[in-house]
Amino acid sequence: MSTRLLPGDRAAADPERALTLGVMGGGQLGRMFVHAAQQLGFRTAVLDPDATSPAGLVAHAHVQAEYLDEAGLQALADTADAITTEFENVPAEALRRLAARRPVAPSGDAVAVCQDRAAEKAHFVGCGVPVAPHAVIADEATLAAVSDDLLPGILKTARLGYDGKGQIRVADRAALEAGWAELGRVTCVLEKRLPLAFEVSVIVARGRDGRVVAFPLQQNLHRDGILAVTTVPAPAGTPALEAEAIGCAARIAADLGYVGVLCIEFFILEDGSLVANEMAPRPHNSGHHTIDSCDLSQFDLQVRTMAGLPLAKPRLHSPTVMLNLLGDLWFDAAGAERTPDWAEVLALPGANLHLYGKESARRGRKMGHLTITGATPAAARETALQAAALLGIAPF
Ligand code: ATP
Ligand code: MG
Repeated sequence: MSTRLLPGDRAAADPERALTLGVMGGGQLGRMFVHAAQQLGFRTAVLDPDATSPAGLVAHAHVQAEYLDEAGLQALADTADAITTEFENVPAEALRRLAARRPVAPSGDAVAVCQDRAAEKAHFVGCGVPVAPHAVIADEATLAAVSDDLLPGILKTARLGYDGKGQIRVADRAALEAGWAELGRVTCVLEKRLPLAFEVSVIVARGRDGRVVAFPLQQNLHRDGILAVTTVPAPAGTPALEAEAIGCAARIAADLGYVGVLCIEFFILEDGSLVANEMAPRPHNSGHHTIDSCDLSQFDLQVRTMAGLPLAKPRLHSPTVMLNLLGDLWFDAAGAERTPDWAEVLALPGANLHLYGKESARRGRKMGHLTITGATPAAARETALQAAALLGIAPF
């Protein structure tokens, strides 16, 4: 197959068939990927077990199957000319199996590193990127060997954690032992709790030719372990910090032989130093603003990387603030279900509302996001604070 995929380049085996981009996973990231792929004229296919997944609802084809189901993977490979993933816990094995049939980006091997906090930290260190002091706890012996210097710390499962799930704050050795038991004695990483001044992320896209382009530094506020607010340009950032973070991300991507969109989350400590927290082998919640604030979004670049199309450097054309809309907003103070008053929010200048089409709201569930752009950072922030007040989101 040609390395260049464009809808105009008909598939060799069946010249009548428009080219199709496939994605493993049907969540909101898959939905925004599908929208970007469709903008370029591609057909789209989603594999997800859920009949009403946000991306499955808007794709041309939905393969409703479990991620390791052989018939499902074959159906996706039969339909799609290139395949990507929208969530990092897709079985790496599924991506490897698909890669035997179709171009897959990012690779199963790269995604496997991102799925394991211990491997991820080792990769960062190998790239010369600083990480939090930590220890891997895999059994009683490694638990007993943990240095007191790592306490107070945060105990995190090595695999399958997200949005603060699979994490316990541990103040002392007794709490560490109880916490490890509570997490089911699975392999964990204990990280020293660091004095954070603020948090940032960078998103890069790396093409098959090794070219890397980066989005601007993003400043992130988390609440209860879940991203709440992203502000760009990062109010506490500097050009030097941005260059350092992008340099780290580019090295991390290059050393993985990575093809696709990659997000690295960083802590900035009170002494100004930068520490890599974790990475996501896909577009990231902190980059959703790019749809409205940049001339190319993180999803546009995901499409281009997997389709072998040229990468152009994205440009931020508007200062922006993104508010995550969690399911909590769909409940009033008495716990009764309600629909937020979108009309008031949509009346604000520069407000772009994105709802993911999820069938039911749950507390902590990501239901949508609101991007506010403004002529200046102060204007975007001012409007975002108004939107937050209207929606019942705490000020930031
Ligand atoms: P995600 O949804 O981003 O995958 P996660 O569940 O993997 O989240 P982390 O990113 O590891 O969780 O941690 C969530 C948040 O907890 C961080 O953004 C940070 O605010 C805080 N945190 C995590 N580790 C530390 C640490 N070592 N020291 C201080 N704060 C921390
Ligand atoms: Mg995180």
